[in-house]
Amino acid sequence: MSKSFVTGFPRIGEQRELKFALESFWAGKTSFGEVEKVATELKKRHWNYQIDAKVDLISVNDFSYYDLMLDNIVTFGAIPPRFAGLSGYDLYFSMARGNANSVAMEMTKWFNTNYHYIVPELSRDVKFNLDSSKIVAEYKEAKEAGVKNAKINLIGPITFLALSKTTDGSNALDHLDALSSEYVKLIAELSKLDNEIIIQIDEPIFVTDRAAELASKIVPIYDTLASVADNVKIIFMTYFEHANEAVAQVVKSKIWAIGLDFVHAACQEEALKLLSNSDKVLFAGLIDGRNVWVSNLDAKAEIVNKIKAFIPDERLYIGTSCSLLHVPYTLKYEENLSIKEWLAFGVEKLTELRLLKKLVNGGDFCEIGSSLIEANRSAIASRKTSELINDINVQNRVKSLTKFDRDTAYEERIKIQKATFNLPELPTTTIGSFPQTPELRQVRNAYKKSLITKESYESEIKKYIDDCIKFQEECGLDVLVHGEPERNDMVEYFGEQLKGYAFSANGWVQSYGSRCVKPPLLFGDVSRPAPMTVDWITYAQSRTSKIMKGMLTGPVTILNWSFVRDDKPRSEIAKELALCIYDEIDDLQKAGIKIIQVDEAAFKEGYPLRKENIPAYEKFAVDCFKLSVCAANASTQIHTHMCYSEFNDIIKTIEAMDADVISIETARSGNELLKIFKSVGYKQEVGPGVYDIHSPRIPTVEEIAAQINALLEVLPKSQLWINPDCGLKTRKWPEVKPSLENMVKAVKIIRMS
Ligand code: GLN
Ligand code: ZN
Repeated sequence: MSKSFVTGFPRIGEQRELKFALESFWAGKTSFGEVEKVATELKKRHWNYQIDAKVDLISVNDFSYYDLMLDNIVTFGAIPPRFAGLSGYDLYFSMARGNANSVAMEMTKWFNTNYHYIVPELSRDVKFNLDSSKIVAEYKEAKEAGVKNAKINLIGPITFLALSKTTDGSNALDHLDALSSEYVKLIAELSKLDNEIIIQIDEPIFVTDRAAELASKIVPIYDTLASVADNVKIIFMTYFEHANEAVAQVVKSKIWAIGLDFVHAACQEEALKLLSNSDKVLFAGLIDGRNVWVSNLDAKAEIVNKIKAFIPDERLYIGTSCSLLHVPYTLKYEENLSIKEWLAFGVEKLTELRLLKKLVNGGDFCEIGSSLIEANRSAIASRKTSELINDINVQNRVKSLTKFDRDTAYEERIKIQKATFNLPELPTTTIGSFPQTPELRQVRNAYKKSLITKESYESEIKKYIDDCIKFQEECGLDVLVHGEPERNDMVEYFGEQLKGYAFSANGWVQSYGSRCVKPPLLFGDVSRPAPMTVDWITYAQSRTSKIMKGMLTGPVTILNWSFVRDDKPRSEIAKELALCIYDEIDDLQKAGIKIIQVDEAAFKEGYPLRKENIPAYEKFAVDCFKLSVCAANASTQIHTHMCYSEFNDIIKTIEAMDADVISIETARSGNELLKIFKSVGYKQEVGPGVYDIHSPRIPTVEEIAAQINALLEVLPKSQLWINPDCGLKTRKWPEVKPSLENMVKAVKIIRMS
């Protein structure tokens, strides 16, 4: 009989209870006791969901007030010196969010997910110091709540150090032995909690290309950890990709089990072969922890059968492909979602797991209810045929695609554009959005809820656009934007107007700390029934004699920030999205818009974890960007924007996108990174952000002038645009106005010099 496990459960709460409790505490409205009370209820509820679904191994220590990496930092005492003297939640939240004296710790993306973790900050002389209190308390809490079959989750020492940064140029991995000694102490303490203790140690760093460099560390470290106590069993957990290098080591070690992802890594044949000749237990991740669609349980059972050819039943656990942190909680609140039958959020995935266990172990479904397996089969069948999903016109249009390039080469285009636009040198512009004021949000919300008429909504939005234009003209910017007042989010705005998209009411996923996102659901063949931005942009253009820049989100970014159907290759879906943007560009230029920006903020995010998969991603990402902009005539200038500047590895790919102008972040990362544009002989024009919009600080004229002069040392005047480093929607007008005025003044000084 195969048993089941769940890698981890989300913690923000199905109605974002933890978010609201935290934010009210941070605002000084409630005590920390209130947050603890909410946390206790949430943990209990989440364990109960899993107990009800008969999960055989339930996670403990997957709860966190902010982030599990941060919890690990506290557990092992790796506190950066600037927080010395603080303790308890004061210390914890100061590290996460900063305080009056110290900046917060850095945050970055957890592998290729949209979850962000706190980056440990180490130095040569860091001293680790175990504090097991949170873990021990949570284990006891789970027992009291009726969890009989707990596994304790920890982030592994190798991953922890591999994801750390150091403040003094030392190598974080030099601390591996010292840190492991603390893990030894921790395991010794945990071993006393029960007759048998199962510990899941997450080592996802081994699904990346760093596995080759790190694999040799597994056996020495983990043999030590596995030998601490006879009653402790260790699972070496991985997810998001294959972990072949690690498997080859784990089979030689004293580790009890290994967890592998059978959703995102194809067949795992190499791993299965290695494991079949060992005594290791396999935790097979089969239910997708990264996506929201109903699982094809019969197909999953087939995969289990294939696994069983290598691994006998009693050495097999089946479960989720990763923590359910990355999917929303439950469909319970989705009353108006037409595509509900095709979805499975966290709680529904627990039921799927229960059904799958029945399917693979044999036995009847009476106990669970046979209607559930029938509902699963009928959902899978209807996804194949439903007209909501399958649109023959879209399919045919994609099949007959032949043109992916603009008709005119860049060198020709730019000449035509320069001659018609007549812009000054070092043209100034912004990235698109202007401050999103509370009034603006209120207007959009009121309109959404039909509390105000279309006319009054439109007149409010137009008023905002008018003000925005007036300011930009007075300020002296060269290429204007309308300010994006009608958009709450750069992907949702487009998704809402595309056929093939749906929106959940409550499908929140934690992004970091108390912040959640609600990704749109791309469930069917995608098309654009009507123009999406043309009315607003042409209105804006009609109010100024300067060039108004059209503003679109690119296909790759729309794809990377949505939950995307899993019944069709992403590269195909990306083409459908590209055609929607293609049509929009065509309409914009017909309406007289001369410059169009296609934002690809999430282009780099989509990069695969393994280098063998990079060429395929780059090909489809570049192809579909090019496809979307090839509607543009030679005289229509295409801009793109990306929110980062680490282009060293991908500069040729960026160039191949063939945008006429790219604006990027550089204010924070410095001009060093820009040199790559020079050294590869990058052809197209570049707008490196001249100030950091992520801070409320107003940059001075001198500072910006100095930054522009520094840019001019790297790139020629004729190739440069001057702009802030991202959209201004998160800033306030009193910050934005003087900052942009200073930017324009700085440019004028340099033009005259
Ligand atoms: N045009 C968008 C804006 O200005 C770009 C946002 C982004 O790059 N994340 O808000
Ligand atoms: Zn940006």
